[in-house]
Amino acid sequence: MLLEDERAALCAIGRRCAEAGLVTGASGNLSIRVGDLVAVTPGGMMLDRMEPADCPVVTMDGRLAEGERAPSSETPMHLALYEATPERAVVHTHSTYGAVVATTMTELPPIHYNTLLLGGVVRVADYATYGTPELAENVRAAMEGGKRAALMANHGGVALGRDLDEAFENARLLEWLCGVYVRAKAIGEPRVLTEAELLAVLERGLAPPEWPPV
Ligand code: 13P
Ligand code: ZN
Repeated sequence: MLLEDERAALCAIGRRCAEAGLVTGASGNLSIRVGDLVAVTPGGMMLDRMEPADCPVVTMDGRLAEGERAPSSETPMHLALYEATPERAVVHTHSTYGAVVATTMTELPPIHYNTLLLGGVVRVADYATYGTPELAENVRAAMEGGKRAALMANHGGVALGRDLDEAFENARLLEWLCGVYVRAKAIGEPRVLTEAELLAVLERGLAPPEWPPV
């Protein structure tokens, strides 16, 4: 079986996404790239009920290389992100606070210094119908400049990583940041960190991990 370990990792991280409340039902999808092959979750399946054989493998130009089930409808978005970045894993969720921010804002302001781990301000990609090349292009554009995460208008969020564990942690961090923002908004006007304050954090050494891994 092609990419057997990677397909097993999709199942393990799929379960963690469900346990962490980042997805419900069959929402969300994950993928991992190795060379010119990408293992991706199947369309329409609960992320916590998959077996490795359920996860198809596609080529970078979108052809099915192996698998019984159809790849996720968002495969074009995953492939567009691999084309545009050196990242090796993509986690797309419908997490609650991410969806709230993506429904009301055009970006998530930097209200906590850990936003720098995702590349600073998180942009909200313009709305397009799920699974379309247009949505793939909007998300790719929102990631420009080395971002590790983006929100998708009226939909959810996407996080990138050098492997699935890292992409999952970035998805959790994105949801945590959105949760802090939304709750802060409920009791007052959140103070946004200044450029100088963010720069001071970068000077202390906090930065997204380097590519390639060291
Ligand atoms: P799939 O089940 O096709 O992966 O779609 C779920 C989803 O989140 C679409 O945006
Ligand atoms: Zn979705």
